[in-house]
Amino acid sequence: MISSIEQANELILSGNVVAIPTETVYGLAADAFNLVAVEKTFKIKGRPQENPLIVHISNLAQLEQIAHDIPDDALRLIKAFWPGPLTIVLKKKPEVPDIVTAGLDTVAVRMPNHDITLALIEKTGPLTAPSANKSGKPSPTKPEHIIADYDGSVSVIDGGHCKIGIESTVVDLSEDDAVILRPGFITSEMISDIIGKNVSTSEIKGEMKAKSPGTRYTHYKPKAQVKWLDETDTDWPSKSYFLFHTIKPKRAEINYYYYNRDYSAFARDLYDHFRTADHLGYSQIFIEKLKNSLKHPIIPALIDRIQRAIM
Ligand code: AMP
Ligand code: MG
Repeated sequence: MISSIEQANELILSGNVVAIPTETVYGLAADAFNLVAVEKTFKIKGRPQENPLIVHISNLAQLEQIAHDIPDDALRLIKAFWPGPLTIVLKKKPEVPDIVTAGLDTVAVRMPNHDITLALIEKTGPLTAPSANKSGKPSPTKPEHIIADYDGSVSVIDGGHCKIGIESTVVDLSEDDAVILRPGFITSEMISDIIGKNVSTSEIKGEMKAKSPGTRYTHYKPKAQVKWLDETDTDWPSKSYFLFHTIKPKRAEINYYYYNRDYSAFARDLYDHFRTADHLGYSQIFIEKLKNSLKHPIIPALIDRIQRAIM
């Protein structure tokens, strides 16, 4: 565990990777301009090099260092949502190493809403930071998740439990249309309200996989099998792990968590439940069906991640 921003800054400037807290999930940070350090991130995580990294910044001068031809729509979104859980894909400056963007001519950028991490990036400059999990594990939302994934070999800045718990929205503004590549807490409605035009999702356009290579990987999956539970299902296998949001089970013998429609808490805890269920050796996780009609901004992202865990 790292005790000060100064210590984290020194580690990063000497080419090491450090796990950093954000409001979404923990990231595995490296100096975005240090090829060797960025390469280390891929190695340590076991991440395929064709899956590009998000660059995390703390001020707009840093944005100028990595992106060019930034459209007005991006500036409007930045004003409305940064620092916050919105990643914007823009045209990349040649100074950004190819390894960061997997050879694409675009770069994904975000300003995370976390005081410790913003203070760190003020010192280090732009940091690449994929989710800090080992590839194949759910994203870490607590320091202990990272310690478990790497047997304590990765230095972690303790920022407590991530507030949102689900990865950022990714919106592509590198071409004329705004396209959501990954749903997150900032919804397509929130984006189109700000830019005053329709936002498409790449699923509709059928381009998701080509545009956002990372969405190809099922990295939201626990070892246990995840299944939706319908209100009408009455057969609940007792040796399973259950997550409910409207139904409060009357059966004491099952291991369940009940969220009483608190969808923020539900999202915040989801990956922790995935990890806990695996740790306790459960082979199935049942999640009470979530409907898109539920009025909470995290719902589309929550359904997306659970659906990917089921696939
Ligand atoms: P993670 O860091 O694990 O949260 O994943 C980052 C996500 O951002 C992945 O889905 C990447 O494919 C996506 N991403 C990063 N850079 C780009 C880019 N230049 N264009 C499109 N998607 C990107
Ligand atoms: Mg990830």
